[in-house]
Amino acid sequence: MRLSRYFLPVLKETPADAQIASHRLMLRAGMMRQESAGIYAWLPLGHRVLQKISQIVREEQDRAGAVELLMPTIQSADLWRESNRYDAYGKEMLRITDRHDREMLYGPTNEEMITEIFRAYCRSYKDVPKLLYHIQWKFRDEIRPRFGVMRGREFLMKDTYSFDLDEASARAAYNKMFIAYLNTFARLGLKAVPMRADTGPIGGDLSHEFIILAETGESEVFCHSDLVEMAAPGDVDFEGDLQHLVDQRTALYAATEEMHEAARFEAEVPEAKRLSARGIEVGHIFYFGTKYSDAMKAEVTHPDGSSRPVHMGSYGIGVSRLVGGIIEASHDENGIIWPESVAPFGVGIVNLKAGDTDTDAACAKAYDALTAAGKEPLLDDTNERPGGKFATMDLIGLPYQLVIGPRGLKEGKAEVKIRKTGERHELSLDDAIARLA
Ligand code: ATP
Ligand code: MG
Ligand code: MG
Ligand code: MG
Repeated sequence: MRLSRYFLPVLKETPADAQIASHRLMLRAGMMRQESAGIYAWLPLGHRVLQKISQIVREEQDRAGAVELLMPTIQSADLWRESNRYDAYGKEMLRITDRHDREMLYGPTNEEMITEIFRAYCRSYKDVPKLLYHIQWKFRDEIRPRFGVMRGREFLMKDTYSFDLDEASARAAYNKMFIAYLNTFARLGLKAVPMRADTGPIGGDLSHEFIILAETGESEVFCHSDLVEMAAPGDVDFEGDLQHLVDQRTALYAATEEMHEAARFEAEVPEAKRLSARGIEVGHIFYFGTKYSDAMKAEVTHPDGSSRPVHMGSYGIGVSRLVGGIIEASHDENGIIWPESVAPFGVGIVNLKAGDTDTDAACAKAYDALTAAGKEPLLDDTNERPGGKFATMDLIGLPYQLVIGPRGLKEGKAEVKIRKTGERHELSLDDAIARLA
């Protein structure tokens, strides 16, 4: 992409109403724009990051054996009356009436709808297990939308739903998601800790929240500090038994505020390892048994001929919240520092003298080579002064910068800057390209 043709409305001033770094930086870097309280337009740079995160989430769901579909954002109130959640959900639900006076709503989550879909087609033990997910916008009329995309009203969520014959098989699905989540967050460059969590209004008896530690997090959490550094499981056989991998990660104490037991924390965790911190909830998994399948009659016949409600679980990841979460975890005073996996562009090429024939030609050569290598470069070919170009590149946080100017070229040199460390290397243009490709 050439910056002269792109749409990157960076702000020079720090927006006054943004309280946390990620919110400020997303506004300053021209990633998004608030259209109403908690409702954002995703500008091109923000949209690219959102797409990259979605894709990693998708790949890890697919790897775990989940199957993607897409359900609508608008749902019927009657569906929610079947589960008795229509009134119970309260003011967080945005209720809509259509022209025929039918009561509709903008979905805050999809348990009811997926259960309706499941029961329409699946009647026999031969039809389970099923593990289905979608990545779709949700709406919750949050009382206090804040911190930009971290607590929006409209937000993008990946939600998976499992349908199983019995509890043992449902727990296997739960374990798949548990492991898939650890791998997902690791690919996003995050250290996410699974913590015992309250099941909230969804109900049930087995639940973990995936929390990234950050001072600006809204939840208070308590855990054994070794959990923070524990590596993700990586390549595992999702059809095999995953219980030991889950057990390894649930053996050490980790709980959110609602589930915290101070006495147990002190008894189980040596003082030096006791971590009490603030965290951001980026994912949440639940096993809730037959809560919805009972109410909504989602039953399958068992081999013995009896018909019984399926065991279900649901598994959410806050895809749009992750954009803010990653920035909270990775930025400095100059701007964002994207992990390579989600960077909107792989390399920023800075043309120090646009219009100068040799410099333009060298930039074009680098641009073509890096494009061919799949690095998705962003070439700053504008007439802005070098200082402004450097500031913009640091602000938008691409992992690498390739700086090309007439003075360097005279000696056959270009400069590679690593955003994360600030390290700079003077190299020949060809070596620089080879290094970045
Ligand atoms: P929170 O405690 O932050 O209100 P939640 O527990 O209500 O979140 P879940 O119902 O567990 O949320 O939804 C799954 C995931 O969706 C959450 O883990 C979070 O990452 C994301 N999420 C929930 N609400 C929002 C929101 N208002 N804005 C952005 N992401 C959200
Ligand atoms: Mg909530
Ligand atoms: Mg929560
Ligand atoms: Mg939750």
